[in-house]
Amino acid sequence: MLDTPIEYLKGIGSQRAEVLKKELNIFIYRDLLTYYPFRYVDRTKFHHVNEITEALQFVQLKGSIDRLEIVGQKQGKRLIVVFKDRTGSIELVWFKGYNWMADKLKTNVEYIVFGKPTFFKGRVNLAHPEIELATPELLSQQSAFQSVYNSTEKLKTRGLDSEGIRKIMRALIQQVQLRDLEENLSEEILNDHKLISRFEAIKQIHFPENAQQLKNAEARLKFEELFYVQLRLLRMNKVRAHTVKGFVFSRVGKIFNDFFTNFLPFDLTGAQKRVLKEIRLDMGSGRQMNRLVQGDVGSGKTLVALMSMLLAIDNGFQSCIMAPTEILARQHFQTFKDLLEPLELKIEILTGSSTTKERKRIHAGLLNGEINILIGTHALIEKSVQFKNIGLVVIDEQHRFGVEQRAKLRDKNTSPPHMLIMTATPIPRTLAMTLYGDLDTSLIDEMPPGRKPIKTQHFMEAQRLRVFGFMKEQIALGRQIYIVYPLIQESEKMDYQNLEQGYDNLIHEFPPPTYQVSIVHGKLPNDRKEFEIQRFINHQTQIMVATTVIEVGVNIPNASVMIIESSERFGLSQLHQLRGRVGRGSDQSYCILMTGYKLGADSRLRMETMVRTNDGFEISEVDLKLRGPGDIEGTQQSGVMDLKLANLALDGHILQLARQSAQTLLDEDPLLEMEKNKVYIQQLSIQQKSRPNWSKIG
Ligand code: ADP
Ligand code: MG
Repeated sequence: MLDTPIEYLKGIGSQRAEVLKKELNIFIYRDLLTYYPFRYVDRTKFHHVNEITEALQFVQLKGSIDRLEIVGQKQGKRLIVVFKDRTGSIELVWFKGYNWMADKLKTNVEYIVFGKPTFFKGRVNLAHPEIELATPELLSQQSAFQSVYNSTEKLKTRGLDSEGIRKIMRALIQQVQLRDLEENLSEEILNDHKLISRFEAIKQIHFPENAQQLKNAEARLKFEELFYVQLRLLRMNKVRAHTVKGFVFSRVGKIFNDFFTNFLPFDLTGAQKRVLKEIRLDMGSGRQMNRLVQGDVGSGKTLVALMSMLLAIDNGFQSCIMAPTEILARQHFQTFKDLLEPLELKIEILTGSSTTKERKRIHAGLLNGEINILIGTHALIEKSVQFKNIGLVVIDEQHRFGVEQRAKLRDKNTSPPHMLIMTATPIPRTLAMTLYGDLDTSLIDEMPPGRKPIKTQHFMEAQRLRVFGFMKEQIALGRQIYIVYPLIQESEKMDYQNLEQGYDNLIHEFPPPTYQVSIVHGKLPNDRKEFEIQRFINHQTQIMVATTVIEVGVNIPNASVMIIESSERFGLSQLHQLRGRVGRGSDQSYCILMTGYKLGADSRLRMETMVRTNDGFEISEVDLKLRGPGDIEGTQQSGVMDLKLANLALDGHILQLARQSAQTLLDEDPLLEMEKNKVYIQQLSIQQKSRPNWSKIG
């Protein structure tokens, strides 16, 4: 029955069905049932006219009509009804259907009016409110939890405003039988987590009789939703383990050992050692590795990647690392060349600006196996890039890439290479479980020794002279300074103006030849950019003025001051990333957040959080609360937003439980082949159809 096309439901003809499909993706009964209310209003409470304020989302009034008239001409024609209770009067307005409404309404009888107050020229009115006779039946039906549904203009013109949707929902719920809405969680799970049945939950989410019912319904449906996301992800992992053979890197060979004993410039941190071991076990297990390495900026992920790549070479395979920007790719290239120089490996770099000649040479070298390590940007994904035998793919700063791009690299060998995915954007655990739920994860939770925590301070424009003074002190100590300006596409022109203005002021304050300033932004040609960065790296300049091109990964240990202009315009994770550019050497480093005077509450919290802590995870938790999961970098393409009820920022505890349950289930029956688990497979396939975006998660 739930697969019945929606046009067959009482009260829905072909026209309404059409808009339901177009506007809300509701095709069948099942789709409608899971179109949940977005909030509830208390229909047992009445407001008084004299207590209406702008803050109220809706008001419900009981009273009578004083007078009514149709006023205005042509397009401006409207019905105005003066409605009063004992505290005052208010205007109700209809711009459409006013003739019919005017005929229907009477004076001297009691009505209930329900609508959203709007303020116009200092006066308040209700436009197109619901209005009904205050009969005893109606009053007795009024519920403290009346569901409110999102609607659209097109739906409203077909009578499907929230009220209209509620009516068809009631019609549907009355028809639905227990057997139609089969339970999709086991008895055991229901008992363990004290969840109500699916049948009850669906009824109660739409028509709760009291707060408890609503709470139970939400708890059950959120659990179900998160459980199935997790089941899908974890099962994907199991299926992969069963069907995909991984290359076996059975030995730690000469190259790795040579590097480790003779050329490693420092001792690995405990965390680096642990993560390397996890990677080694994965790559030797016969399973194809899909591992995410999370580690705060500066925790030394590059070295872990590099050493994993040496293992690949030791076992006769090639490997590559993909970075999100050219600057970063070049920096990796340099690091790899420097560190691996004595080992005589063949390392190449491929980016968008590689010449045709270079490309040809690299393509050939990859195919004949001569090149051991390829470093690059998105250019690596291109079809023309083919390897003789790639065994390990590293993706740096994963959050900058989409799942599809990851998948393309996976296809670069007849059987998928091991995948090592690195991110310096700490994300809250709950989000990670969903975003990267199908990956095994490692955490580098320790900084290389000798790092002093970065000191962060927030300054307003008026304190700029002090900031200049501080910069001069630091430069006199031999340090280098970044100054970063926001650059946002929508305000690009203005942003460049600010950057240039800032640069001019700076040159004025820091004149040559005593001071030298580099400037780097996206409009510069690549060779010029390269030149400017190189000057800074060589310490020929003391200050680098830049847009956010330097955000990710850049590593210049002598730079110890990061000044972020218009900090209020950056999100927390970006601020944290930027700050991570300093504090990479042994000197005390500083981060200065410049802002204007007027700061909103959110901006102030962002600044305070940055000043208070250097802990990326703590910052990411605040970020999640401030912005909600949909705005966290990396979530947009992932389908996490498609959750209907659960909120990853608020329902972390349910998520944990749901993931555990899914894990337990799969531990017993990895591929869900047991008879009693058939329902899970069915449910997964139903969901796959109705939520195509979910296939993009992970
Ligand atoms: P991220 O994790 O942000 O990618 P990097 O890999 O760029 O960090 O490392 C940051 C800096 O720390 C680099 O200069 C690197 O050489 C240095 N580094 C990495 N591991 C260690 C270590 N075990 N001891 C000392 N310095 C290290
Ligand atoms: Mg890095």
